[in-house]
Amino acid sequence: MRIFLAAIFSMVTVSAFAEDESWKAPFDYAVAFPEMVAPFEPFRVIGNLYYVGTEGLAVYLITDKPSHFREGEERAHILIDGGLPGYEHIIIDNIAKLGFNIKDVKILLNTHAHFDHSGGLAVLKEASGAELIAAEGDVSALEGGFYLGHEDNENFSAPQVAVDTTISVSGDYLIFPIGGAFLTAQHTPGHSRGCTSWQVRVKEGAKHYDALIFCSATVAANSLVNPPQYEGIVDDYRTTFEKTKDWDPDIFLANHPEVFHMKETREKQKAGDTLAFVNRGAFQKYIAEKERAFERALAEQKAESKND
Ligand SMILES: [Zn+2]
Repeated sequence: MRIFLAAIFSMVTVSAFAEDESWKAPFDYAVAFPEMVAPFEPFRVIGNLYYVGTEGLAVYLITDKPSHFREGEERAHILIDGGLPGYEHIIIDNIAKLGFNIKDVKILLNTHAHFDHSGGLAVLKEASGAELIAAEGDVSALEGGFYLGHEDNENFSAPQVAVDTTISVSGDYLIFPIGGAFLTAQHTPGHSRGCTSWQVRVKEGAKHYDALIFCSATVAANSLVNPPQYEGIVDDYRTTFEKTKDWDPDIFLANHPEVFHMKETREKQKAGDTLAFVNRGAFQKYIAEKERAFERALAEQKAESKND
């Protein structure tokens, strides 16, 4: 496979892993999260970056362009996130509708190891034969099929999936030159310990655009204190807010499509605006709001734990 990995991070190959095939959904996702399991017409966001998720959960495909192939070389598409377990067929169908093949996906990536974004990875890995690359901080949750710090809460469980290559926390980034796009992993921890945001450089017309698929910075089900969801979670969120202070991607995308108004923007794109997803400035607005929400939640959780 023609993948070039930057030497700045270390890789560890994980072996001797047995996947658990007995996993059953703990509740009915179609009732709890109807939008997240509703099919959505897949589309090209920009360049060779495609949306292949559901109405309420984003999954991204980055394709290797035919123009970059040499005779005899295999295709190597990248898929980011797996959606909810049990709904992988929607993603596979979406890839096919766009004229691509799940078998040509050679790399699987994840924004973070929470069941709504990682739950489909095991089946997608099986269907594609792809290698799963994930951040060190999320490996235990992916391989154990749990939400870190909620290990015994089966409502947060997911099918176990073996990680083939680990991105180290200290190293922070890897680069794949693929289909004329460059993909960079940025460790943005807090929401999960291995929360990884993906920067993708794409070309549309004669111009390059930097897209950001941001992991998340919401507190959501995370406990920040007494006990913390995981050791160091508060520092991790603050590291992420600090690290992203000067980020201003041309295209801000996320794993929850409502964050970047996917449906409305898609309508504009369908009406002829090919650059509809270009939204400079949107990320800074989003992250500033998330930082304020985090500090509020931290103060609240500290106050509550004093009252106990
Ligand atoms: Zn999450």
